[in-house]
Amino acid sequence: MRKTAKLQALWAELNAAHFDGALKPVPIRITRSRCTYGYFNGPDNGGQPSIRISKVLADTAQLLRDTLLHEMIHQRLYEDGHPEWEHHGPDFQAHHVRLFDHHYVEV
Ligand SMILES: [Zn+2]
Repeated sequence: MRKTAKLQALWAELNAAHFDGALKPVPIRITRSRCTYGYFNGPDNGGQPSIRISKVLADTAQLLRDTLLHEMIHQRLYEDGHPEWEHHGPDFQAHHVRLFDHHYVEV
């Protein structure tokens, strides 16, 4: 299975397990970024949101899963029309605590 197909399958699994399957399917792209583990791309590029994951930084199964889940919280807020969907404010943190049992700390 191609890596993007694996990520897409993982996304679907996490969507079902943690978001009641409610998130809309988005393309997941693999990058070689050395500064950003992942990125949820909102309304630019003609309105099709997407997720980008760095295969350089998120290089273990655990990091991949955690990074994808993090970006899916941004996706949840974005689909909710939350004005702070790009940020790690209180509503982001509420999801983060629910999914990771701790707050997200900016590094
Ligand atoms: Zn984030």
